[in-house]
Amino acid sequence: MTKTRFAPSPTGFLHVGGLRTALYAYLLARKESGIFALRIEDTDQERFVEGGIENIISSLKWAGMHIDEGVDLDENNLIIQKGNCGPYIQSQRLEMYHTYTTQLLEQQDAYYCFCTKDRLEEVRNCQQTNKLPTGYDGRCREIDPAEAQKRAMAGETHVIRMKMPKTGFTAVDDLVRGHVEFKNELIDDQVLLKADGFPTYHLAVVVDDHFMEFTHVIRGEEWLPSTPKHIKLYEMFGWEKPKFAHLSLMVNEQKQKLSKRHGSVSVQDFVEKGYVPEALINFIAFLGWNPGDEREIFSLQELEQEFDMTKVSKAAAVFNLEKLNWYNKHYIMNLSIQELAKRCEPFYLNSGIDIRAHDLTKIVALEQGRASTLVEIVEHTGFVFAEHLEYEPELLVWKKSTAEDAKEKLSLILEFLKNKPEGEWAKEILEPTVIEWIASKDFGNGDILWPTRVALSGLKNSPGPFELMSVLGKEKTIRRILTAINYI
Ligand code: GLU
Repeated sequence: MTKTRFAPSPTGFLHVGGLRTALYAYLLARKESGIFALRIEDTDQERFVEGGIENIISSLKWAGMHIDEGVDLDENNLIIQKGNCGPYIQSQRLEMYHTYTTQLLEQQDAYYCFCTKDRLEEVRNCQQTNKLPTGYDGRCREIDPAEAQKRAMAGETHVIRMKMPKTGFTAVDDLVRGHVEFKNELIDDQVLLKADGFPTYHLAVVVDDHFMEFTHVIRGEEWLPSTPKHIKLYEMFGWEKPKFAHLSLMVNEQKQKLSKRHGSVSVQDFVEKGYVPEALINFIAFLGWNPGDEREIFSLQELEQEFDMTKVSKAAAVFNLEKLNWYNKHYIMNLSIQELAKRCEPFYLNSGIDIRAHDLTKIVALEQGRASTLVEIVEHTGFVFAEHLEYEPELLVWKKSTAEDAKEKLSLILEFLKNKPEGEWAKEILEPTVIEWIASKDFGNGDILWPTRVALSGLKNSPGPFELMSVLGKEKTIRRILTAINYI
């Protein structure tokens, strides 16, 4: 059975690049009715960020991905682990890594290395000056294993390195990149166990992927050069290796790696900017994959059916914000008005707007057709809630008219509207009656409707006057027109 994993290091909030890795692993598992698991790779304790694990999981959940096995959050947002291959947090598996380094030492596929930091630095500098490839020079490879063990037992500081063969090639048959060969002599004798007793990523990833029974390893292309080391480890242990898929880098439009310095990169950033999960997922899925035809709109469920690893591209994926906005607008437009109101609610609360006395469905409807983000909806409808609007008096004057005229027209419509019963206060009724009244008076539509719309919104651009009247209600409409008259 297909079993895939996402194996992030909790060094910060989940990056959108990580979201794509997780998504592809998740989609492959779903497509093949397999299992998707989450493992936490926290062997680099110095880079551990408090709250990182929780953020990774809540971001995946926000996006709609269900974790079948491994690390998850319960309903109180506490970290839990589920499944038979745990623990799924690497710092809780140290004993396991020791057992398997011991095996490699016994097989003489690994050796103790006592070189100091200073010596390693010296070696490196020397290699750099001579324009040689950098890497461990293999000094401790030759120490007699029994003697090395004695020194280690006596407490001498050491690491354990893998003994890479010095001849031949190691091939990676990658599902995305195809057949790639690496010359063994250029591959470093990787440290497997550090001086502090923690494994490096390279040992831990192989041991865990094996014992957690993953069939596919899907990850970023930065790990491709490490893969021959992993393959050698599988061979040393005599374990069957999983299939590998290395995903291309995600870059911005300037072809730079997506980084914080250039804008939003974490899933959290996009949540806070008012992107909806349907849009982010659809957009991210297409950064490196497409169904091979013209279709662009896919729900997560549809992606689960359609996703095909063989259609994943090895070209760098360009993160195009305009396209993301296009998706977001599309999904916002297609939400039911109740759902849209529900999703906007936290954003209104966040910006300090008291929504209690309002029907949000009517308000968000004003912007549903034009906004690209939920935050935009909130920003563009803030005027509806205001108790008092500030006006720029010139804005209230229609371009072909005068201040006097604007004042007069506003007074006339004020009187007209005052006589409309509350029960008829709806766009569908107000619009034809007002238009008819304007015509009967021989006014131009703009003469009346321009100052009215500005009086109701205070804005140069806003939804139309009848939508505004309907959302504001009779009392507020009258009050705003009156205030505007006094401003002119
Ligand atoms: N912890 C690694 C990362 O965050 C995972 C690489 C892998 O999936 O093997 O990039």
